[in-house]
Amino acid sequence: MLKNKTAVVTGASRGIGRQIALQFAENGANIALIYAGNTAAAEETLSRLREYGVKAEAYRCDVSDWNETKTACETIIKEFGAVDILVNNAGIIKDQLLLRMNEDEFDSVIETNLKGAFNMTKHLSRSIMKSSSGRFINISSVSGITGNPGQANYSAAKAGMLGLTKTVAKEFAAKGVTCNAIAPGFIETDMTENLPKSVKEQVDAVVPLKRMGKTAEVANLAVFLASDLSSYITGEIIKIDGGMCI
Ligand code: NDP
Repeated sequence: MLKNKTAVVTGASRGIGRQIALQFAENGANIALIYAGNTAAAEETLSRLREYGVKAEAYRCDVSDWNETKTACETIIKEFGAVDILVNNAGIIKDQLLLRMNEDEFDSVIETNLKGAFNMTKHLSRSIMKSSSGRFINISSVSGITGNPGQANYSAAKAGMLGLTKTVAKEFAAKGVTCNAIAPGFIETDMTENLPKSVKEQVDAVVPLKRMGKTAEVANLAVFLASDLSSYITGEIIKIDGGMCI
């Protein structure tokens, strides 16, 4: 479904990003993966990607940093020739009730989760615009739709991504490029592994499907949005949360 396409996936050393990269590769896409610092995890992802016979390279790069992302994107375009798909997935949490949240906890989450998506979109937009079926996919969160106590920083960043998604969708539509957001609920990854026990125990009560989601379930949606099957969908926010926010 993605044969001969090149996809850049941020935060693809682990979790949701890794699974998206793997399922893109399974469908024939070449992968440039971006990670923050966990080289062992990035190398493991790379070797699994190459088992699909696609080109795969990893780039250590802090998505919140304008210059680092510019250099990484220029290198990727040079090494891969062109980019068709960008998945802005890299993200962090620094949860704290607003009364206790400090400036750094707010700024760092906004800079990684929101400005990071802007940096990557900006530096790859010219290349993606030239693709016959360019795709931007932003991994937001249901927290960006509903808000969530303890996540003023994260909810604001994820809501910001939704505005970015709709604007990019409108600005690039004339070129046939689409931009959509995925808003996951609770998904089993390192990020949710350390959630307080009290929050995990609530899953049965608040999720109608009574379980956390799997990374492969999010990746299935990303493959659909990256493929020609979604060619007339743009500016959408698709929740994948087991019915939590119905
Ligand atoms: P993980 O914590 O499992 O993985 C995070 C990934 O992002 C890693 O690859 C990490 O790299 C990378 N990363 C973190 N900071 C940066 C940075 N500054 N620059 C480049 N890469 C960075 O996260 P998940 O897989 O759980 O989450 C992925 C996305 O999905 C996030 O945006 C998250 O907000 C969103 N999401 C997750 C949900 C969940 O329940 N898990 C629910 C809703 C949304 P490294 O390995 O090098 O540290």
